[in-house]
Formats: sequence, structure tokens, C-alpha cells
Amino acid sequence: MKPVITIDGPAGAGKSTVSKALAARLKFVYLDTGALYRALAYKALKSKIDVNNPDELGQLCLTTDVILKNMNGTMTVFVDGEDVGDKIRTEEVGLAASTLSTFPAVREKLLDLQRDAGARGGIVAEGRDMGSIVFPDAEIKIYLDADVGERIRRRHEELVQKNRPATLSDITRDMQARDHQDSQRKIAPLVAAPGAIIIDSTSLDVSQVVEKILEHISGVND
Ligand code: C5P
Repeated sequence: MKPVITIDGPAGAGKSTVSKALAARLKFVYLDTGALYRALAYKALKSKIDVNNPDELGQLCLTTDVILKNMNGTMTVFVDGEDVGDKIRTEEVGLAASTLSTFPAVREKLLDLQRDAGARGGIVAEGRDMGSIVFPDAEIKIYLDADVGERIRRRHEELVQKNRPATLSDITRDMQARDHQDSQRKIAPLVAAPGAIIIDSTSLDVSQVVEKILEHISGVND
């Protein structure tokens, strides 16, 4: 069976770009698990559900149909039959996802979906708890990090490119809140999983990070 590759790390460390490029290089499936949390957060915001209220979130989990479909090698999220696409890519949705992802009912709802997607191997799965909780037996585990200043700069550039400019101070505030929430929560906090290779991408571009990961993969296969 082809291996499972997990890529965890904080917001703005370059996980998505690197994971997509790596999956394309290896002809593996790409799974963005943040999109699952964002999709639920998107529905919560749309339905005026309080993302801090466990009862309302429990109800949301019970009444929401979330599935993943492999579309040309990318696992795409459908919520109640809708491909939520780029609508989940806002800072507001990211922050709400970070809040609702601290609740056990939400994490339980999404766990099997993620495991099923990786059950046949040949997948690059990115998130916060890929190597620690979702795929603890993954053959290759990466923890991708970067300086907070660089992560803020990258997020700013990304938003400008998407024509959704935000001020550096707003991005800094949101990123600090997410970093804190994601690393301090009780369940499935952001950690470098045991055995993970730690890569600091502060002064590396995407292709350099991909090359580093490929070197480790060939080391595992030798
Ligand atoms: O990776 P992304 O920024 O899209 O993730 C949005 C939020 O979803 C994160 O801030 C994190 O709180 C949550 N998340 C998670 N576990 C994952 C992936 C994302 O808790 N595996």
C-alpha cells in the first residue's frame, strides 16, 4: 500500500501549498482537513449558531451532512450537498472553525470521514492532528512551522491575491487567537506528533520544502 503522509502545523506555515504540490508530485490524493472544520463553521455562521455553545453545536453535528468526494485527486467537502468551495476561505470562517474545533462532538463527527479518506494510503493529509490522532500510524509525518512574522506576511499576501485585503494588525490578532486556541485546547491540540520531522519553512520556498520532504520519503523507502 502507498504511504500516508501527514503534514501538521500552525496557520500560515505553508501546509496547503506544500501538501498540494507534494500530492501532485507523488500522484497522491490531497486531503485538507481544515476545510472540514471550516465547512461546519460556515454552516454555523450562516445558520446563526453560536460556535461557543456545545448544545447548539451538538445539534449542528446531528443535522448536517458532511461528505468528502475525490475530485481529480483532491478530496472536496460537500455540506448538505453543497460544494462550499472558496466561501470557507475567509478569516471569519477560519476563526469560527478554530473555536468549534475545540468541541469533542465536532471532532468525533469528522474523525471517521478523515480516516476513511486515508484508508487506502496514497494520501497527503494536512491539518493540526493528522500525525497525532487521525493517522497515528502514518509512515511519514511532517510538522511544518515558520516564524509568526513570516506566517502573518504570507497570509496577508494570500488575502491580497484573493482580492480580500485585510490589515496586518487584523491578521496578527486573528492568527494569535488561532495559534493560542489550536495549541492550548484540551483535545487534539496542535503538536508535533511523535516521530514527526520538523521543517522550518521561514526561509524556504514551496519547492524547497517539497524537496526536503521527498528526501525523507526516499530515506524511508531505502
Ligand atoms: O487549516 P485551516 O486554517 O484551514 O483550519 C481551520 C481551523 O480548523 C484551524 O484553526 C483549527 O482550529 C481547525 N483544525 C483542526 N484540526 C485539523 C484541521 C483544522 O482543529 N486537523
